Order: sequence, then C-alpha cells, then structure tokens
Amino acid sequence: MSKILVIAEHDAGQLKLATLSAMGFAQQVCAQTSGSYDVLILGEGISDAAESLRAYGAASVMVADSPALKEPLADKYAFVIDDVARAQKATMVVGAASTFSKDILPRAAALLDAGMISDVIEVRAEGDDFVFKRVLYAGNVIATVKLEGALKFLTVRPAAFAPPSKTDELSPATPVAVDAGKLPSQIKFVGREAKVAGRPDSTEARVVVSGGRAIKNGEDFERLIGGLADVLGGAVGSSRALVDSGITPNSLQVGQTGKVVAPELYIAAGISGAIQHMAGMKDTKVIVAINKDSEAPIFEVADYGLVADVYQAVPELIGKLKK
Ligand SMILES: Cc1cc2nc3c(=O)[nH]c(=O)nc-3n(C[C@H](O)[C@H](O)[C@H](O)COP(=O)(O)OP(=O)(O)OC[C@H]3O[C@@H](n4cnc5c(N)ncnc54)[C@H](O)[C@@H]3O)c2cc1C
Repeated sequence: MSKILVIAEHDAGQLKLATLSAMGFAQQVCAQTSGSYDVLILGEGISDAAESLRAYGAASVMVADSPALKEPLADKYAFVIDDVARAQKATMVVGAASTFSKDILPRAAALLDAGMISDVIEVRAEGDDFVFKRVLYAGNVIATVKLEGALKFLTVRPAAFAPPSKTDELSPATPVAVDAGKLPSQIKFVGREAKVAGRPDSTEARVVVSGGRAIKNGEDFERLIGGLADVLGGAVGSSRALVDSGITPNSLQVGQTGKVVAPELYIAAGISGAIQHMAGMKDTKVIVAINKDSEAPIFEVADYGLVADVYQAVPELIGKLKK
C-alpha cells in the first residue's frame, strides 16, 4: 500500500498550480494500490494556500508554517521534509518538476538515503513495485525505469497528470511543529528579485506567446510578443537566441536549458523550432507557429501554422483580437 507525501509549491503564499498535477499523480498511484496521500506545504503565512489544498481528497494537509521557512532554502526545507517523511512512513515523496523541486527534493532524498527519478510522465503498478516513464534527451527519448528502495523520490511533469477532482469533504489541516533552532543554516538568504510585470508565469499560464530571433529588439518584443500575450491574458516566453542577444532576460527562456511549459495554447512567433526549444513546449495542447519560412521545423509540431512576417501578422492579430 502506498503512502505518498506530496510537496506543495507556492510563490510567497500563492499556490503554484503544478502542485495539483503532483496531487493528480498521487491520486493515480493510490487508485492503483489503494494507498493514501498527504500534502506538505512549507513557508510562512501560507494558510490560504494550505486551505486551497484541502479540497482534493488528501488524507491530510500538513502545514509547516514558520518564520524560519519564509524563504525556500533547500537545507531547511529538506530537513523538514526528511522529518515528516520519516514520521509518516512515506513510500513516495513527490513534487512537480520545477526549479523549486530540483533544488530541494534531491537534498531531502539524500538525507533519507532514497533514490530519485525526475520528469515522470507515466506510472504503472507492477506487483508490489512501480514502473515509471520519464523523458530524456530534451524529450526525444522516453525511458521506462524502476527505482529500487522502499522510499522513492519523484518529480512529475505537470502536463502529464491532470489535477484531482474536487471533493465535498475537506482534508484535515495538521500543523507541523518546526523547531527553528534545529534547522540547518548553511545557506543564507541574500535577496529575491520579484517579477514586476503583471503577466502570469509562463509555467502556470494557459497561454504563452514566445518570440524568437525574428524579433529585432526589446521594444519590438514588448510591442509584438508582449502585446499579443496581453490581449490573450497570457505569459511571454522567448527562444535562447533572444536571451543570448540580450533582448530578453534569461527568466523568459523556454526550452531544454530554460523553462518547460505546457499551456493550452503556445504561439511561437519567429522561432525556427530547434529541438532544444521544442523540449520546453512540446507538451502544449495547441501550438501555433508564425514564421516566414514555410520549411521551418516548428511547422512539423504546430497544430496551426501561418507563413508570414511577424512584423505584419502579429499587429494584425492583436488588432483583430482587440475587436
Ligand atoms: C545545449 C543547448 C541548449 C539549448 N537550450 C535552448 C533552450 O533552452 N531554448 C532555446 O530556445 N534554445 C536553446 N538552444 C539553442 C537552439 O539550438 C537554437 O539555436 C535556438 O532555439 C534558436 O532560436 P530561434 O528559433 O529564435 O532562432 P533561429 O533558429 O535563428 O530562427 C529564427 C526563425 O525566425 C524566422 N524569421 C526570421 N525573420 C522573421 C520574420 N520577420 N517573420 C517571421 N519569421 C521570421 C526564421 O525563418 C527562423 O525560422 C540550445 C542550444 C544548445 C546547444
């Protein structure tokens, strides 16, 4: 029987929707093995986020709310996860595949001497064990793997697991006692650079509009890519070509070495479709490509393709959408 601990993710108290996909994964495993899952949320001032987690059938929502956990420092968070996973006798610890999980979960796995698999897209019970599918080589290879050991750490791709359906009954919320004096303190918090633009995060947004080398400067990027994203209520992204040329910040890069996004709609404007870029957006439901080269590889994965100059097509699209 599985006993799963899902690690919730939030941004300064705002729940990240990818958490719900990790809970969806847990629910799938429980359905196959008649187990149960708990959710652990760590931070300070997280009661609203914790509350919103209670409606999805978890056995409990465990809340480690402490000023010592205000910033997601890996050493402190891993310490608490270690404690809770032992106390719960967890057989799996699961998080959404994200920068947060990449930072924290391997450290917690090491404390518990457990193995870890990242980027899981499928799970199947096989006897008392599990078989997982995970993506490799920028999404070009899907590996089928097993993980040894009684406790397994996993990150799951949000696009691969639907959020669990809501339940009428709320999961109990259980406070987790945090002894700040016992927490490790090798990592010191220096500062946080918060995004100032009012646009959603590309990993959370339903629509992402990305620009590529076709865009000549920052002003054009804001007018065309930002403008189209704004009329669609979406996030902006970019190819590495624009990051390398200093037109967009690194935080906007989508791809193998950038963010992995899986929105309902991804618009690639003036992006050729290199495999490293596609590794970050292939899981999108509907891909629209605008490129003046009809042979561009992006058209091979696009659901809708427009052979056009972005400098003409995008302002026209914005104008029509505004109407
Ligand atoms: C190890 C490694 C990791 C990498 N990681 C990433 C990553 O995470 N993300 C990423 O994006 N890349 C990554 N890259 C780089 C990747 O290989 C490509 O170089 C990059 O994605 C190309 O960006 P692009 O499509 O914007 O530019 P280009 O490949 O130059 O394509 C520009 C496209 O715009 C079209 N175009 C030009 N002008 C117009 C116009 N006016 N109207 C319409 N279309 C026009 C052209 O036809 C062309 O198809 C990585 C590379 C390596 C080696």
